[in-house]
Amino acid sequence: MLIDPYNRPITNLRIAITKRCNLNCIYCHREGEDKPGKEIDPTLIHQLAHAFHEKGVRKVKITGGEPLMRTDLPEIINELPEFEEISITTNGTMLADIAYELKEVGVNRVNVSLDTMDPDKYRYITGKNVLDSVIDGIEESLNAGLTPVKVNMVLLKGINDDEIDAMMEFVRGKNAILQLIELLDFGDLENRRMDMVALEESLARRADRIEERYMHRRKKYYLDGCVIEVVRPMDNSHFCKYCNRIRITSDGKIKPCLMRNDNLVDTTCLKGSDPSELIMEAVNKREPFFKEVK
Ligand code: SAM
Repeated sequence: MLIDPYNRPITNLRIAITKRCNLNCIYCHREGEDKPGKEIDPTLIHQLAHAFHEKGVRKVKITGGEPLMRTDLPEIINELPEFEEISITTNGTMLADIAYELKEVGVNRVNVSLDTMDPDKYRYITGKNVLDSVIDGIEESLNAGLTPVKVNMVLLKGINDDEIDAMMEFVRGKNAILQLIELLDFGDLENRRMDMVALEESLARRADRIEERYMHRRKKYYLDGCVIEVVRPMDNSHFCKYCNRIRITSDGKIKPCLMRNDNLVDTTCLKGSDPSELIMEAVNKREPFFKEVK
């Protein structure tokens, strides 16, 4: 088991397999990558995935960019070790055609980004008029059993904050969870950040039941026949205290923290040799970004 210097076990791996994307979301943090270089090749993905798996990592998430931009995605998944869970985070625009194949090669579930049910707002946020394809992608994922489908909604004040009920309506009765995500601080979008404390208070008032997940102390609200999770990374020392995640960037670097780019560990020099030392170097560089104030 990998344990970092702050006693946090590392059980989850998040691999960005490309920086390419067919959308251009106004808020996108691009998984914290600033200047990605050459796209990671499948051999290195597998070498790192197997090494992390041997060291106790149980869950892997494939992300991007848009991971479905890679035509070798099914092969990449197929060669992964037997993780307890393999999931993909996708914008869903190309998901409908490949959902069953992804299930066959071993994907357990998908997270699909969908911030609005309004086609005009969708085009404004993402730059493309493809809301229907995303909805088809979600439906086909449900049919294929890539469940529970998590619908990722980044909350943007004055743009989609009036649509939480519409999104609840969309997930109700489906094997789906609505994830309400706090906007990570981005310069000129500062005025779009929602008051997440007020939001959680209002969810708590309406909820029939609330569960708290160990990971990040994230709460799960059961209300009006829907399951809602709230993801609040900003200024949240709990988010960091319970962080069990390590990342690989789309150009093959181990990334100890989403919020930082000054402590990456390059693995592209490995050329088939054992990645253990580089993995330990990255693990030892981990420290909470938001620390508890004593
Ligand atoms: N292209 C894929 C997608 O759209 O899901 C995967 C990559 S995307 C960077 C991964 C997740 O990060 C999405 O759910 C997206 O909504 C979220 N995300 C991107 N920028 C963000 C920001 N500034 N604040 C909060 N979440 C963000």
